[in-house]
Amino acid sequence: MNKTVLHLDKIQKSFGGLRALADVNLNIEEAKTHAIIGPNGAGKSTLLNVCVGRLIPDSGHATFDGKDITGKDPHEITQMGIARVFQTPEIFPDLSLMDNVMLPALSKRDGSFKFNPFATMRTQNDIRDEAVHILQDVGLDKFLDKEAGSLSRGDKRRLELGMCLILKPRLLLLDEPTAGMARHDTNQTIELLKKIKERGMTIVIIEHDMHVVFSLADTVSVLARGKIIAGGTPEEVREDPIVKEAYLGGAHE
Ligand code: ADP
Ligand code: MG
Repeated sequence: MNKTVLHLDKIQKSFGGLRALADVNLNIEEAKTHAIIGPNGAGKSTLLNVCVGRLIPDSGHATFDGKDITGKDPHEITQMGIARVFQTPEIFPDLSLMDNVMLPALSKRDGSFKFNPFATMRTQNDIRDEAVHILQDVGLDKFLDKEAGSLSRGDKRRLELGMCLILKPRLLLLDEPTAGMARHDTNQTIELLKKIKERGMTIVIIEHDMHVVFSLADTVSVLARGKIIAGGTPEEVREDPIVKEAYLGGAHE
């Protein structure tokens, strides 16, 4: 077994009377791609929010690289090496693509994630070079000076991925990165994620498109009504009667 990068131990989270996560245990192994699937409302986004410190679990622990990150500040968690692409793209629409990709790196330097205007010229130049590289990687290098707000939905998602990559995370969390994308955009995203994966990045991907799951995932966990109900390789999970029942019996995504 590979080294565990992220470990979730009996995570519970309720919203009022609604139990969004019930005793969730999960092991994410280094350099693997782990997909989390499940019907709408299963608790998938809530789970990622717990991992990045946007939500504090009612009980249970999250450990990253052997360190307890439960209840830590989101900035601190990003600083430790976890980056996340949210379900709704969070970009700066009025800024250029270059500025969007450079900003996270410029703000990371002093640890506060506030923009640091005193970053040395040398550092700024390095970050600029790196940003160009990353925009090439995500296939947006034709639009370096374009306003981010004018991009298509698929391109916005790729830009957000670029904003994560410049932070050089050890763990990348993706919440439905292909949602609402046309097949062509989805396929481009699959190729991009394959490339990132080949470089040894550990990836957790929430995904409802089984074509994406089968193209990328080494392991799949199935979440339904806040519980992990099945897990294994994509093939194992597809044939699991419990999984079929969860999808057919519950809300369809
Ligand atoms: P998924 O991402 O699997 O579709 P979510 O994690 O977004 O599911 O939501 C799980 C359940 O928790 C849903 O029933 C949802 O309505 C509820 N929920 C999520 N976030 C909140 C919140 N901030 N306040 C109240 N209920 C929430
Ligand atoms: Mg969700």
